[in-house]
Amino acid sequence: MAIINEHKAIIQPLNPIWYQPCVPQMEMLRLDLIHPVISGNKWFKLKYNLETVLEKGYKNILTFGGAYSNHLVATAAVAKEYGIGSIGIIRGNYAKNNPTATLDECRALGMRLLFVGWEEYARKTDEAWLNDLVAEFDTPYVIPEGGANDAGRRGAEDIAKLIPETYSHICVSAGTGTTLIGLRNALPAAQKILGFVPMKEGSYIKEEIEPHLRVKENWQLFDEWHIGGFGKWNNKLLAFMNNFYRINNIPLDIIYTSKMMYGLDELLLGRYFPDYARILCIHTGGLQGNSSVQDFLSY
Ligand SMILES: *Cc1c(COP(=O)(O)O)cnc(C)c1O
Repeated sequence: MAIINEHKAIIQPLNPIWYQPCVPQMEMLRLDLIHPVISGNKWFKLKYNLETVLEKGYKNILTFGGAYSNHLVATAAVAKEYGIGSIGIIRGNYAKNNPTATLDECRALGMRLLFVGWEEYARKTDEAWLNDLVAEFDTPYVIPEGGANDAGRRGAEDIAKLIPETYSHICVSAGTGTTLIGLRNALPAAQKILGFVPMKEGSYIKEEIEPHLRVKENWQLFDEWHIGGFGKWNNKLLAFMNNFYRINNIPLDIIYTSKMMYGLDELLLGRYFPDYARILCIHTGGLQGNSSVQDFLSY
């Protein structure tokens, strides 16, 4: 599709002082470079949804997310680009009077925001509630939170086309696990996939991932590097991000990719990897979310 050139996603070597002598090779697939807003894995999860929207002539896209959701902004930007309306159902009433930069950006892109309490939001996959919501707007096409549907998983499979077979380990951050599912289903079974979950006790997503896997083996989740929980951070994480940027010239985001690389750093030091490991880390984007910590970042 015209607005995104997926081949802008280059593979960038990391600075060897970062990973040697633990492993011989470590590189990063820069999905963050494909678009400033419709960035990273979000484009891949949206693209086949968008195809249906355009084919069937839907006038609106309705989707779900929290006040910092990269998925919401990406959806708003895609919709605007194609002249389609967008509606965001936002988790929690707090953000209504305390809008985040993410929600301001969604609004600026033309997204209509509907704030609902946490309890109501928890019904986000409940058919009766969805029918009520859909009836409020002009026949919107509904995309679940995080783009976690069949079209999203199929789109995530396309990321595998950018990954050569020479890597032994592929590292990715996992929120809903949709991206990890697409990768596991499309990559050779011999390539091990490591998923880093930024939520506290986040390994529960294993149950949501498993039913969708065609290839069941050779993947693992890590949930110990949540740094206090989803969206939480501390000075150590900020220092890590600034240092990573200084050494590799790659900006990481505060919610997902920074915690993945932080965890990977500890895995390297703990000699988790076999000494033949050739590692590819996927930069899934999300840099718009850094506006809340901009003052603490050197980039
Ligand atoms: C949304 C997001 C993820 C999580 O992707 P899932 O497919 O939901 O697992 C990872 N990284 C970034 C930067 C994201 O914005």
